Amino acid sequence: ANVSHELKTPLTSISGYGEMIENGMAKDENVRVFAERIRRESNRMLSLVTDIIALSELDERQILEQAEPVDLYTLAVETVETLTSAAMVRGVSVRLSGGPVQVHGVRSLLSELIYNLLDNAIRYNRDNGTVWVRVADRQLSVRDTGIGIPKHHLSRIFERFYRVDKSRSKASGGTGLGLAIVKHICEKHHASIRLESAEGIGTEITITFPATEPQD
Ligand code: ADP
Repeated sequence: ANVSHELKTPLTSISGYGEMIENGMAKDENVRVFAERIRRESNRMLSLVTDIIALSELDERQILEQAEPVDLYTLAVETVETLTSAAMVRGVSVRLSGGPVQVHGVRSLLSELIYNLLDNAIRYNRDNGTVWVRVADRQLSVRDTGIGIPKHHLSRIFERFYRVDKSRSKASGGTGLGLAIVKHICEKHHASIRLESAEGIGTEITITFPATEPQD
């Protein structure tokens, strides 16, 4: 039910704008505006479909077959590089610390996990805020100086499509699936998640990986 609602909303609006242009109902000066909305909604659908596919593959994929020794610090360096321009646009500085931490896992999934956490820490930050990424002692933590999460939402933000502020999430390109994917990836790697957040101050998410290789 959630998925169909989330997909129908952008499709309905894409179809509506297309129809107005097709029927000549859109004034010349509005055509560009409508085209822009069509593009924006299409991009949103693209992110959504990408995330939904990632989640469904995660349910089925044989994690163990693809697991290998992975250094979390190397992945963190790569992810910070990938998101540098997104951070710069908001004046957010990203600081990386720690050193090599070897875990037994699936590289692409672990990379996605770090990406989702860092992406959120940038998107829900304030202008000119800071994000600290730390990799040490079998842990990965991402801390930000952002808007924080109100207490009564804390237990729910790992649910699919759950957002504290739907319009802020959408405006920043969110799908509501990022943390559901994080939770799934952690479960597959037998890693635990700790969440600490204070409204208006910031959020810290810490992932702790098991000391030994997962057995199943
Ligand atoms: P979204 O695509 O909406 O960002 P997520 O599953 O990644 O979806 O996160 C769910 C919700 O949790 C977000 O909509 C936001 O309200 C909240 N959230 C996630 N990370 C942070 C953060 N670092 N700071 C503040 N709020 C956050």
